[in-house]
Amino acid sequence: MAKQSAKDRAFRLSEGRCPIHGVSMPQIGLTGEGDQQRALVGCPRKDCEITGSAWDADGPVELMPEHAALLRPHPVGSIRQ
Ligand SMILES: [Zn+2]
Repeated sequence: MAKQSAKDRAFRLSEGRCPIHGVSMPQIGLTGEGDQQRALVGCPRKDCEITGSAWDADGPVELMPEHAALLRPHPVGSIRQ
């Protein structure tokens, strides 16, 4: 697989897709309270734990803080591609 850059990942997120797998992330719940409530979306792959929140199912998605390292140029962690 081609090497992914932080920019590629940010672009995928902007379209509501998993930054690693490029598949669209369906809504799996809700996050937040009151007028800050947003859709909780997650990658449909079983081996992927990436989740984020979005105002709208078509994105853009904001990664949950525990996954934010994926958007840094040299991510720490070992999510398989
Ligand atoms: Zn994924």
